[in-house]
Amino acid sequence: MRILLTGGAGYIGSHTLLQLLQQQHELCVIDNFSNAAPEALSRVARLSNRHFEHHDATILDSGRLDEIFDSFQPEAVIHFAGLKAVGESDLKPLSYYEENVFGTIQLLKAMDRAKCRRIVFSSSATVYGTPHYLPYNEAHPLAPINPYGRTKYFIEEILKDWAKTDAEKAVMLLRYFNPVGAHPSGAIGEDPMGVPNNLMPFIAQVAIGRRPVLNVFGNDYDTPDGTGVRDYIHVDDLARGHAAALDYITHHTGVEAVNLGAGKGVSVLEMVKAFEQASGVSIPLHFAPRRPGDLPQFWADATKAKTLFNWEVEKSLVEMCADVWRWQSQNPHGYGDET
Ligand code: UDP
Repeated sequence: MRILLTGGAGYIGSHTLLQLLQQQHELCVIDNFSNAAPEALSRVARLSNRHFEHHDATILDSGRLDEIFDSFQPEAVIHFAGLKAVGESDLKPLSYYEENVFGTIQLLKAMDRAKCRRIVFSSSATVYGTPHYLPYNEAHPLAPINPYGRTKYFIEEILKDWAKTDAEKAVMLLRYFNPVGAHPSGAIGEDPMGVPNNLMPFIAQVAIGRRPVLNVFGNDYDTPDGTGVRDYIHVDDLARGHAAALDYITHHTGVEAVNLGAGKGVSVLEMVKAFEQASGVSIPLHFAPRRPGDLPQFWADATKAKTLFNWEVEKSLVEMCADVWRWQSQNPHGYGDET
């Protein structure tokens, strides 16, 4: 298939790009590199030994989108592009609505003009909000608690309406839990700009000596060890999930929302311990106050993905940590190492 990836140079995009190239699809990447490095694409090209098109462009630019759609003629789109920092979304909500919601509208209009009817969308478990019950299944009420989560929720609703305009349209809303890990080669991985917001890259930067100590945000939650619990999923499992979802929407029309998670919760302290075991490096901790806006715990009911397109996670917590450590130790400064 000819597949267009928006945000294909980012963390999840680059791993999915590699996966799809290895499956012999034809790929085209659009990325504005606002939170990604061109070097990631060079490394994917090297790892896959395949050629793919890529364009330094924003999805807000409808003229550029039309040019790219006209020349590449994609049969499907995987839409990763978007802003993703929860805390920043409280400070700059309009940027989030513009890039994420308006950007998606521009993309869908370009798809309509090019008669491209299939899309896989990077949604998030944040669409669920405060748990009414756990694990979250796809029928859980949607009530996101921050602007970032609301952009994902609004886009899901827009995509549902878009799908109704043509019986041949096919939409897959993939609700990611907490992606971590890196490609086992150590050549591509997560390279956050500035101070990492997320737990795993922060641990990795402490381990490599870029940061002195991990702040554990809250140890008085009502969880088994008092620290926050999340459902961590290896980015390669997530990449395979996109390939499986894409295969599904080539054979089914309409809209589905599907959780991509491991189906189990892991605490901050359990994650630190697993990382210490995988790396042999000890991580100094500082118990800090709760981070505003954090939920105590959530994890996925991942059975729908298994039923619908026979996908489930394969990689363990130890593999997630070992792969992050390989990536971080081979690239102490991320993609910035390459001269
Ligand atoms: N966390 C932490 N220290 C950090 C970053 C995160 O203790 O430096 C905790 C956070 O409070 C949460 C868990 O790790 O319980 C996962 O946080 P992350 O930001 O990775 O994911 P999210 O909260 O967005 O699900």
